[in-house]
Amino acid sequence: MEYKLQKPVQGTIGTTKYQHVIEWRNGQFIADEPEKQGGQDTGPDPYTLLLSSLASCTLVTLRMYIDRKGWDIPVIKVNVNMWQTKENDILTTYLDRDVVLPEGTDPEQKNRLLEIAAQCPVSKILEGNIKVRSYVYHDEDVDKKIKYTNGDITVVWKPELCKHSGRCVTQLPKVFNLKTKPWVTITGADSETIKAQVDKCPTGALSWFKNDDTTENTPS
Ligand code: SF4
Repeated sequence: MEYKLQKPVQGTIGTTKYQHVIEWRNGQFIADEPEKQGGQDTGPDPYTLLLSSLASCTLVTLRMYIDRKGWDIPVIKVNVNMWQTKENDILTTYLDRDVVLPEGTDPEQKNRLLEIAAQCPVSKILEGNIKVRSYVYHDEDVDKKIKYTNGDITVVWKPELCKHSGRCVTQLPKVFNLKTKPWVTITGADSETIKAQVDKCPTGALSWFKNDDTTENTPS
């Protein structure tokens, strides 16, 4: 499993309501909440950021397509907004996207560009199967950086390499469980089972060594 972004988007908020900083690959910007939500409106709010992603992806996808076709369409605009309904406790969100092309654009080109807009990568993400997975690591996990031993083998976990693929927690939950503190229960299985699971870690975050041999065995 590979993350799309080499550097994750990082957000930081202090105690100022509700201004926060979003850091991305090559810089940072401020986001906030509107005044009616108790913020100061000094930057885009979370909904605006979500819709901006769709607008941005649509524009880039259309520009690439238009350039490849060699069509003379100098400016494209996109308006995106959203509304929601709730029925029987099921929330449905509609994202409406209007593609605005210059006056006089050929109707067939317009129709084709609408189809292309619908295929932009962010559209596909939003219309696909999305799961938000959340993690928290406790101080004792990060501080120890971290070694767990059962006297026979030692498992080493490097948080900075962990890509949360979930392989260890789904395949050997008696040992790897984010709801326990610490998250590795080294007594939850025998050494051979643990070694086999560690060897399946796709990122090298997990490794093991035999206690009488300090050479680390990382997954190949
Ligand atoms: S330690 Fe490895 S297998 Fe476990 S969640 Fe992290 S990357 Fe996935």
